[in-house]
Amino acid sequence: MKLHIYAPGSTAKEAHARTCPGCKQRTRLLKFYTPRYGWDATCIRCGQKWIDGESAEIPMTNGIRMDNIESAKIRWRVMPPKSSNHSAIQGNAE
Ligand SMILES: [Zn+2]
Repeated sequence: MKLHIYAPGSTAKEAHARTCPGCKQRTRLLKFYTPRYGWDATCIRCGQKWIDGESAEIPMTNGIRMDNIESAKIRWRVMPPKSSNHSAIQGNAE
């Protein structure tokens, strides 16, 4: 499978165990901070995605939520906990 992920470089990540507002199930939300975009979060159970606190539009495409889950897991695996310039970048953004 060939998977292309377009994402400007995220500088921090967090995982939160909680009840998903979308599927109402206990799950983990994988969160990533990207300069200029803020935090995005993906439920790894249902694939619902939020960008800067707003529910991301889910196009009616088969498998888009599975793609969200896979891309969040891949981003989680490849990204360090926090890049060395995260604090400076986030500080400038707020
Ligand atoms: Zn969910």
